[in-house]
Amino acid sequence: MNPQLASDERAQDTTSRLRGASPAADDLLLRACAWCDRVHVDDEWISEESAVRKLRTFDRDAPPRFTHTICPECFERVERQRVEHHANRARVA
Ligand SMILES: [Zn+2]
Repeated sequence: MNPQLASDERAQDTTSRLRGASPAADDLLLRACAWCDRVHVDDEWISEESAVRKLRTFDRDAPPRFTHTICPECFERVERQRVEHHANRARVA
């Protein structure tokens, strides 16, 4: 048996299963943090690698689309830095 042929058949099988299970799979829009590059999946911020594993993006017909935002942790850090920066400037002045 030709192993290449077998894996092609498996790939096609997976694709058709996914299509049947989720017709909107190609409309996936993920939110990514522009600061730490983590991705919002199932109500948590996880690394890109984890998101790829979890969402099996390579099994999809089209890659997911991304929109960029800031995650709550980065927002807090950036906001804290901003406040400290202004506090320091106020002390110097
Ligand atoms: Zn972040």
